[in-house]
Amino acid sequence: MRSPEGAVASAMERAQHILENVFGYQAFRHHQADIIQALVQGRDVLTLMPTGGGKSLCYQIPALVRDGTGIVVSPLIALMKDQVDALQQLGIRAAFLNSTLAYGEAQATEQALRDGSLDILYVAPERLLTARMLALLESSRIALFAIDEAHCVSQWGHDFRRDYQQLSILHQRFPSVPRIALTATADQRTRAEIIAQLQLEDAAVFVNSFDRPNIRYLINEGRNAREQLWRFLEREHPRDAGIVYCLSRKKVENTAAWLNGKGRAALPYHAGLTDEVRHHHQERFLREEGLIVVATIAFGMGIDKPDVRFVAHLNLPKSIEAYYQETGRAGRDGLPADAWMSYGLQDVITLRQMMQEGDAAEQFKRVSHQKLEAMLGLCELTTCRRQALLGYFGEAYPRPCGNCDNCLAPPQTWDGGEAARKALSCVYRTGQRFGVNYVIDVLCGKDDARIRHNGHDRLSTFGIGNDMSNTEWRSLFRQLIARNYLEVDLEGHGTLRLTGQCRPLLRGETELELRKLQKAEKTKKRRADKTGAMAPRPGDEPLFDALRRLRRSLAEAQGVPPYVIFHDSTLMEMARVRPTTLEEMRSINGVGEHKLSHYGETFLKTIRAQSEQALPEKPEQEPVNAEALPLD
Ligand code: ADP
Ligand code: ZN
Repeated sequence: MRSPEGAVASAMERAQHILENVFGYQAFRHHQADIIQALVQGRDVLTLMPTGGGKSLCYQIPALVRDGTGIVVSPLIALMKDQVDALQQLGIRAAFLNSTLAYGEAQATEQALRDGSLDILYVAPERLLTARMLALLESSRIALFAIDEAHCVSQWGHDFRRDYQQLSILHQRFPSVPRIALTATADQRTRAEIIAQLQLEDAAVFVNSFDRPNIRYLINEGRNAREQLWRFLEREHPRDAGIVYCLSRKKVENTAAWLNGKGRAALPYHAGLTDEVRHHHQERFLREEGLIVVATIAFGMGIDKPDVRFVAHLNLPKSIEAYYQETGRAGRDGLPADAWMSYGLQDVITLRQMMQEGDAAEQFKRVSHQKLEAMLGLCELTTCRRQALLGYFGEAYPRPCGNCDNCLAPPQTWDGGEAARKALSCVYRTGQRFGVNYVIDVLCGKDDARIRHNGHDRLSTFGIGNDMSNTEWRSLFRQLIARNYLEVDLEGHGTLRLTGQCRPLLRGETELELRKLQKAEKTKKRRADKTGAMAPRPGDEPLFDALRRLRRSLAEAQGVPPYVIFHDSTLMEMARVRPTTLEEMRSINGVGEHKLSHYGETFLKTIRAQSEQALPEKPEQEPVNAEALPLD
């Protein structure tokens, strides 16, 4: 008989074998190996890992190593089919049970579970909790329970909370089956709630860094957000898939139409569309390449598309949590991606008003306000965004990241004390009864009937702001509001009032260092198309495109998204390495045995054909180290 240590060692050998031969990857990432080891030993696990960190392998591999079927609880019904398709592409016996299945299909799956002929089964939580399903599980062999999106137990407003909170029943009914709870939600409070609600007190906890190093954070201020967005898309993502978030349905519709008018394929997505239309748009986003979805935040939960190259915000998100989560949908595949945002004065005003008007409890409003303040703080920052972002989640990032706008082009600041005093006293002298536009008009000495009628052309502050442009004044007001020197009234007229904080500033006792309004955005074209990190090297492009076309036709024939066949990163590596034999093909990341035997020859054929055509021009240059390149 083997010792327990020996058994674990051999289980881990099998895990490594599966990683290489089924998934086609060389090495485990982060804590994957430790997590898998804990599960094969029968321990419970709680895993906190950012999106794209590689959570799925943590339960998929132990489900294959251990006897029986791995049961995956997930609320994201829309995703299950794609997840199962992706596993089947790897030769794994996977299935799902949820309300979208016809009776006969569900029965066949249940039978397969009973027979022990399933490796992995995805189940919606409400289905899992039925007496019938629990009885079925008791009469089957279960390898483990994986509870995905475990933050759904949290009190912070999740749709699936009820069902999730009952999942502790798994622990009671199946005490010897190990469980793993997984989430990409970073905060401490949620973590504690998951442990308590799911009775995971004895679980091994693995917390990853929440950094998403491949995401570049870019935050712009000012007006003409659309024009800025367009320049950004033209320069950085002329052909890429991405998401544009807006606050209102109307803005979603307008922006999608505008993008279409500019020649980009863009689809709207918001709660005002029928389920059918939304579903259709989501499907197209997953299955086609280079599409843009313009959406309210309703879009995203359940988007598992790995090659979203940018997430753009045309409005300010309401918290850092939301910002992190929404931007996190970019670059799941680990290739460079952008989180771009443009926000303006009106955003701050609108969000503040929305928070005041809701009929939520005072306590909730207060927390919402604090969260918005923190988000504004991140926007107004003149130092590394990543450090601040991770710091907010309690994680220390040791140095400026080099991959955010502030690191790449350190913003200039100016002493705004004098201008702020002019602005504040003008608000005061006009009686704290007017909005930003009016106050700026007075400051700039505008010839205006309403101003004359109010006698404000005779104020000492009339025309004292001529030295700054209207845009510069707006930027100043936004920062004064963001920093709470001014508050915006609650009734929706946008009236400005001084806060208690103003006093030391008005007396000249505090300084006010402000971000200088940037002229047209000047961040240079990114390094990546030279490095091959995000885009293929120029010489590899024709082959990469040919491989993508091949992938698309294979995907369409099977009715699956292209990325379940091969990820972009895998195709890029093929285009660079140009394997000529199956053996060489096997060493490409993301090519496991099943895919090798299914697709190997087909892809080799395309590579051979292209290489023959392009032989004389094959580029000689070595891949360049991104870090070593001058940034402009
Ligand atoms: P998450 O669920 O945490 O968002 P996924 O499980 O979807 O992340 O993994 C993100 C990507 O990383 C996927 O494309 C996955 O195949 C890949 N991946 C995961 N683990 C590894 C690994 N050890 N080596 C290479 N790629 C990996
Ligand atoms: Zn930085």
